[in-house]
Amino acid sequence: MRSKTVAELFLDALLGYAPVTSSRCVLAPAFLNQCLCSPSCCLLSRRCFGCLCPEPATICLHNCNLLPPGVCNLLNSSTIYANNEVCLGDIEVYGFDYDYTLALYSSTLHSMIFNTARDILVEQYKYPDAIRKYEYLPNFAVRGLHYDINKGVLMKIDAYHYIELGTAYRGLKPVPDEEVMKLYQGTNHVPLHQVSGFYGKGPAVKQFMDIFSLPEITLLAVANDFFLTNDIDYDPIHLYKDVTDAIRDVHIKGFMYKWIMQDLEKYILRGDETYAVLHRLASQGKKLFLITNSPFSFVDKGMKYMVGKDWRDFFDVVIVQADKPHFFNDCIKPFRRLDKNGDLRWDKITSLEKGQVYKQGNLFDFIHLTGWRGSKVLYFGDHLYSDLADLMLRHGWRTGAIVPELETETKIVNTEQYSQSLTWLQALTGLLERMQNFKDPESQLVQQDWMKERHELRAVTKNLFNPQFGSIFRTCHNPTYFSRRLCRFSDLYMASISCLLNYDLSYTFFPRRTPLQHEAPLWMDQLCTGCMKTPFLEEMAHIR
Ligand SMILES: [Mg+2]
Repeated sequence: MRSKTVAELFLDALLGYAPVTSSRCVLAPAFLNQCLCSPSCCLLSRRCFGCLCPEPATICLHNCNLLPPGVCNLLNSSTIYANNEVCLGDIEVYGFDYDYTLALYSSTLHSMIFNTARDILVEQYKYPDAIRKYEYLPNFAVRGLHYDINKGVLMKIDAYHYIELGTAYRGLKPVPDEEVMKLYQGTNHVPLHQVSGFYGKGPAVKQFMDIFSLPEITLLAVANDFFLTNDIDYDPIHLYKDVTDAIRDVHIKGFMYKWIMQDLEKYILRGDETYAVLHRLASQGKKLFLITNSPFSFVDKGMKYMVGKDWRDFFDVVIVQADKPHFFNDCIKPFRRLDKNGDLRWDKITSLEKGQVYKQGNLFDFIHLTGWRGSKVLYFGDHLYSDLADLMLRHGWRTGAIVPELETETKIVNTEQYSQSLTWLQALTGLLERMQNFKDPESQLVQQDWMKERHELRAVTKNLFNPQFGSIFRTCHNPTYFSRRLCRFSDLYMASISCLLNYDLSYTFFPRRTPLQHEAPLWMDQLCTGCMKTPFLEEMAHIR
């Protein structure tokens, strides 16, 4: 029997790949109207693997737009995204964390933290003075990375605990893939359950989940880089401890609080939006509370700047220095009341009263004293572990994650370059899946070419976000470990609490029904719910 030509193999592959074989489109049904521009439809103007015309594939290079009109403007960074169905009409009580939830900070704060901790390393921990030559690198790290304390390696891990090859860094230099495999006994899988706890705090591998941890990651990287490039023997375990202690000193000694309080306008962003959110919720009869780890004097100054001197009128309960996540998962510390001078009182707390300020405490007493339990409470915070995990898993409150990175990431996802690259990457992957059974030399060469292009496209889509680590939400194709935790611990997620201004307080968030692997992909399922049909209100427009 005559063996098939490569063009025929393409045809076979594409017919098999096409979800609707009666059409000539090789993409999902949603693209039918846009993609069938001519009887000889193409996948992309620059390539023609999808062409079903009788001419040889290589000569058919049509202008066929792969992307439907408007696809590059589908996402809006002011949208609230739903992992789980939430009806705001059922929410009676709204709770908030303070730092990076009610108060968003300018990124200049990161370079201040970095510089101060770097100088502490030199002055107090006696590290070489030459480390001072390193300046903060604002675009080096992203949130959610893991750090192997013993090996001194920073890396991005996916939802299945695999290191994304190409994203492992020792110091400021990438670790070659072969070396990564050697470090982890011939695999890029990291058994996190053996080496790191539920909150990602080690002992052998730590996950950086805090937005404040970006300067810490960068300081670790540059300090490692200093010793490596100067060929100085050092122990990565000592280095990790010293950097962590230096960063902790910046927080504990109150440097950061002092900088912010001295120049609120410089460091606190979009305070008017915080005011608008609180005013709207309170005026519609919702109960509000604040649970923060920060001290009262700091919170008071920031809230007066953002909301006004009467900010506490909005809140039914105010709790400071709460010691989250312990606040949520043990019942050891009782509440204490602060008087008007900020001094601790010794009376036993039997109720939580509006107008008072409380310190420490625990969630069990909080629920007992307020009666605010279950799904009528929605709590917003930026830290997936300290703010949200226990509330979601143990207490059944609804949770909203503040993820400021969404603002830049949705802009990138909306670019034509990203959409084109990703769509072609997916089409190429589908072709490879179909063609892999053809073992003749000619087919193998074509597949090698496609595999190489796929590898290059993966790098292109990654680098659009961050050249070292890519998006905080995706590895090549899987969700990141961060993404998985975000989906598990939050009902809703958004760039800032001001996104609430876009929605009526009876609005129901319906998550998109993304198909499971064994389910047929139905485009309309995805188009009809989730972020694609967001009814934006006018109120937001008055603020920005
Ligand atoms: Mg916070």
